[in-house]
Amino acid sequence: MKRKQIDRKKRSLTRPRNWEALADTAFSRDLSRHRRALAKLPEASVQRALGSLPESFEPNGVVVSHTKKWAFVQFFRSPEGLDGRREQLCLVDERLPEGEESLLAPGDEVYVEREGDEFVVRGIAPRRSRLCRLAGPHERVSVQVLAANVDLLAVVASTTQPPFRAGLVDRFLIAAAVGGVRPILVVNKTDLAPMPAEVETLYRSIGVPVFETSCVTGAGIDALREHLRGQTCVLAGHSGVGKSSILNALDPNLKVITQEVTPDGRGRHTTTLARLYLLREDIRIIDTPGIRTLGLWNITRDDLMFYFAEIAEQAAGCRFRNCTHTHEPDCAVKEAVREGVIAAQRYASYQRILASLESEDQITPGRIRPKE
Ligand code: GDP
Ligand code: ZN
Repeated sequence: MKRKQIDRKKRSLTRPRNWEALADTAFSRDLSRHRRALAKLPEASVQRALGSLPESFEPNGVVVSHTKKWAFVQFFRSPEGLDGRREQLCLVDERLPEGEESLLAPGDEVYVEREGDEFVVRGIAPRRSRLCRLAGPHERVSVQVLAANVDLLAVVASTTQPPFRAGLVDRFLIAAAVGGVRPILVVNKTDLAPMPAEVETLYRSIGVPVFETSCVTGAGIDALREHLRGQTCVLAGHSGVGKSSILNALDPNLKVITQEVTPDGRGRHTTTLARLYLLREDIRIIDTPGIRTLGLWNITRDDLMFYFAEIAEQAAGCRFRNCTHTHEPDCAVKEAVREGVIAAQRYASYQRILASLESEDQITPGRIRPKE
């Protein structure tokens, strides 16, 4: 018995990347908190008849993190006999209907009722916006909602370690547009290397606010905090760029665990559940591991151009109405790239993403398994 446990521990150390499968054994601050809280609850029988679901309700809390059966909820209005400042572990009513989208996501507004010693999520408010990825073929829902009711998507990149990757930034910008979420770009680690000047001009010119930050010197953190006030924001970006460090810099009370960067400049994978952080000054930030494998949800090849506003603008001048701006003659977009009206870097992203949509279409129509 004891031996078995040790073996299991070893395995979880040697394969840290498989976080979903190992969620029960891998250590993280959030998971350990989950386990501690779960152990405290009485054996709740979910089969028990719980009464009927309310037809209409006023949400009284927001989902901080969740598993299939449980959700941590932070209340806005504290139900009777409850400390409103504390996160409360709640049972999710089994009869809540699961549709196309996942039932719960961090950021969901919910209605919780008290039942004796237990709290039960009885209603989920319609989502105002969502960031999604398509689920795999063996998952129950086809659209996995990574975060709900999001106002902003902060694409976090670093000037170096890992190096700035424009292609990834562009993919995240599209995901933001698809989810109806305003994007911002945060370029971190400016103490190690300056941000390339063209990056700033490029993204400002397409209407994306750019923030330069350093978690070491604290530069730019106040400006970022100012912009995030009163908003719900998802952090997206390559592992190791400094997302956890930015959270800590925005609110030092959080003490989110950060990770060391390996000598080749890549970050290690940390295992955490998706989670909403409530910061001071009414800032809500969702950090989700799922966002790292975010695919382009619901985009067709013909649509892609409309997520590159500067390309769509020029396309009216193309000779062919269905021009893909790749091989066609008399293409106004290619002309604009030559003249420098459209940044070569953005056009390159467009081409790459178009090509990836093509190959994904051929393999599994309608069921895109995204790759980065
Ligand atoms: P995450 O994977 O995006 O959450 O990245 P972390 O916040 O865990 O940071 C990865 C590594 O980069 C850690 O070793 C941090 O100390 C380091 N780091 C984060 N921000 C900065 C920064 O602004 N400057 C420097 N020099 N290092 C940073
Ligand atoms: Zn064209």
